[in-house]
Amino acid sequence: MEGTMKCVVKNEPKVGAELTSIEIPKIGQNEILVKVLATSICGTDYHIYSWDAWSQKRINPPKIMGHEFAGEVVKVGEKVSKVKVGDIVSAETHIVCGKCALCVTGQAHICTSTKILGVDTHGTFAEYVAIPEDNAWVNDPAIPPEYLCIQEPLGNAVHTVLSGDIIGKTIAVVGCGPIGIMAVAVAKAVGAAKVIAIEVNEYRLNLAKEIGTDVVINPLEEDVVKRVLEETDSLGVDVVAEMSGNPKAIQQALKYIRLGGRMAMLGIPAEDVKLDVANGIIFKGIQIHGIVGRKMYETWYQVKGLLASGNLNLDKVITHKLPLEDYEKGMELMKSGNCGKVVLFPNMK
Ligand SMILES: [Zn+2]
Ligand SMILES: [Zn+2]
Repeated sequence: MEGTMKCVVKNEPKVGAELTSIEIPKIGQNEILVKVLATSICGTDYHIYSWDAWSQKRINPPKIMGHEFAGEVVKVGEKVSKVKVGDIVSAETHIVCGKCALCVTGQAHICTSTKILGVDTHGTFAEYVAIPEDNAWVNDPAIPPEYLCIQEPLGNAVHTVLSGDIIGKTIAVVGCGPIGIMAVAVAKAVGAAKVIAIEVNEYRLNLAKEIGTDVVINPLEEDVVKRVLEETDSLGVDVVAEMSGNPKAIQQALKYIRLGGRMAMLGIPAEDVKLDVANGIIFKGIQIHGIVGRKMYETWYQVKGLLASGNLNLDKVITHKLPLEDYEKGMELMKSGNCGKVVLFPNMK
């Protein structure tokens, strides 16, 4: 396809991003061109927009931002064999080599040379995006694009919650940003006994409540460790889904996790965290599991199955829908924390 398209570009190494117009991407032999129907704002996009310490090290401007999306395939490269023009696709955002020891042993999500869509390559805050065929996930076109675009972060929530036993277990979801909220929905859908949400932002605590959390705790208002122990017959929770990356929250979790518990960690601390390894981990006999991305493609099949089951309550997860032009408003919402998922529509007429 010829011509230009509108997109949101991180043009310079400083705060902000620009709405501009550039050439529609050309595709390689193994790539597909996708017309973006919906693209949601991730915490990562906000990091890049606000130009924090992590993005200063990682991002090489200019880059089109965004990676969570759903869209219609409008063109395929000569060697593309599975995906067809007209398919509605989303993407696994980790572009991996397919050849390293990890890729060939079922651990492609931790490939040694992973590139991330919209971080290391041009992303999806645009009318069109080019992606490798191998990264395309073909969707059920009956599901609205705003739900399809959040499958990627939903996959993070699924990977975190389902990285060990969960049926009949108590779980604390620490941090109720969009992925935390989705983790609550997943835990409820698969039969956790009790879901305890821990969050400081009242808007997000309310969202957690609306989505079916059994207990909500605001650490600014009460003693988290004491309350979790009260809620779990003094045993502590079986599972911690750590979505906050907050050092204090992580230290507290090691106090209220039960002996032999499981802690799945997705939230990224900005700095080193001091931990009581002896009493919090070793003598408690707990497992700690670092969660990176989604298992390729086991997690995607789990997401697909959960969506098909009808058990996953995602109604409240998407709180704002905006045309792409209003990306700055979306970023302000992300900054305030007074939102769930914010979805942008680049082709809204
Ligand atoms: Zn994301
Ligand atoms: Zn690899």
